[in-house]
Amino acid sequence: MKECIFCKIANGEIPSATLYENEEFRVILDLGPAAKGHALIIPKAHHANLYELPDETAGHAMILAKKVITKMKDILDCDGYNIVQNNGEAAGQTVFHFHMHLIPRKEGDHAGISWTPGTLTEEDKEEILSKFSME
Ligand code: 5GP
Ligand code: ZN
Repeated sequence: MKECIFCKIANGEIPSATLYENEEFRVILDLGPAAKGHALIIPKAHHANLYELPDETAGHAMILAKKVITKMKDILDCDGYNIVQNNGEAAGQTVFHFHMHLIPRKEGDHAGISWTPGTLTEEDKEEILSKFSME
């Protein structure tokens, strides 16, 4: 993908604050952090979103997330971590090259990763359960 900014960052054509890299991924600090230490895991190969990501890469991304946040939580002395991954414009995705957000959290911070809980209605439950199948 010639004009994809994350292809360029992941492959080192555009410099970034790199925490770690291997053959498959680059882990960088986000330029617009939700909180101090907000990092992104970016695969070096272009895949627009999670739907298109090969299973193997998806698995490796989560294992890498575990390693990075385990280390980072001690460095930053944070109280929690959010892993956020947006797919599609409606979900807040702005860069259409798969990435995972690793967001350190402190008690009482205002990083704002929350939603107002609704109610699971009988209608919604029945509709979804009747339509969804992994077969
Ligand atoms: P999305 O909204 O697609 O899930 O997340 C895109 C993220 O990439 C945002 O948090 C934004 O701050 C970050 N971002 C966009 N362009 C750049 C860039 O050039 N460098 C870095 N380090 N982060 C970027
Ligand atoms: Zn790309």
